[in-house]
Amino acid sequence: MARKTEKVLGYDIDLISLSGAVDFVMGKILKREGIQVVTVNPEIMAIAAKNQEYSRILRHADLVVPDGSGITLALKLKGIEQEQVPGIDLAYELIKTCRDMKYSVALIGAKEEVLQTTKKRLEAEFRGLDICFSRNGYFSNDKEEGIINQLDETDPQLVLVALGAPKQELFIKKCREKIKYAAFIGVGGSFDVWAGAVERAPEFFRVMGWEWIYRTFKQPQRIKRIYKVLPVFLFKVIIEAIRTNGIFVKKEKQ
Ligand code: UDP
Repeated sequence: MARKTEKVLGYDIDLISLSGAVDFVMGKILKREGIQVVTVNPEIMAIAAKNQEYSRILRHADLVVPDGSGITLALKLKGIEQEQVPGIDLAYELIKTCRDMKYSVALIGAKEEVLQTTKKRLEAEFRGLDICFSRNGYFSNDKEEGIINQLDETDPQLVLVALGAPKQELFIKKCREKIKYAAFIGVGGSFDVWAGAVERAPEFFRVMGWEWIYRTFKQPQRIKRIYKVLPVFLFKVIIEAIRTNGIFVKKEKQ
C-alpha cells in the first residue's frame, strides 16, 4: 500500500485515518515487515530540528501520524483537511486488533507500578491478549542490549515503547537493528493514562483538538515544554504555507 503524505517542515506526514493506520500496521505485522510508527506533534518537530539522529529517524519512519492538533493545523494552512490521529488511540486500537488476530504485544516504559497496572488493565479489557514482554522504562544505557535480546526472544509482533520523545524513538532505532520483523510505536505517556495515573482530557477537548491545553492545565510542568516550542512552530508553518501554496488556498480533501 503506497503512502499518501504531505510535508510539514520538511517531514512527510501520512494523510491517513485512524482505521487506515491500524490497517497499515496490521498489514505489516502480517507480512513480518518491521516498521517504526512515529506519532508526531510540534514538540517532536522541535526535537528533530536540534537532533540530527532524531531527524533521520523521523525522515525514515514507515508511518508518521499527526498526533498533535498543531500538525493538523499546519496541514490545514496548506489546504489539507486531515483528522488528528492521537497516538494513544492508535495504540489502543492496535492492541485490540492484535488480541483479535492472536498477535503478541510487548510493553516497554513508564514506572514499574504504572506498567504493572497497565498490563493488568489491558489483560482484563482484552481477554486473551498475549503480552509477551513487559519492562519498566527506567534502565541505564548499559542495560539496553540485554533488554533488546530478551525482547527478541519473546518474538513480539507489536512493541509499544513509552519512554517519551526523543528517548523512545532512539531506543526503537536500537531495537530495530536486531528485531527486524516487529511493528514498533512510541506511545509517550499512554501507559500513565491507561493505568489511571494521568487523566485523559474529556471528549469535548479531544474533539476540538484541545487535548494539549487540558494536559498542560493538569500537568503545569508541561507549560515550559510547550510554550518554548509552539510559537516557533506556528511561525515556521505559516511561512512554509505561504511559500508552498499561498496561505488559505484550498488544495484537496483527504
Ligand atoms: N519515562 C520512562 N523512562 C524515562 C523517562 C520517561 O519510562 O527514562 C516514561 C514516563 O514514566 C512516562 C513517559 O515516559 O510514562 C513519558 O510521558 P510524557 O507524558 O512525557 O510523554 P508524552 O505523552 O508527552 O510524549
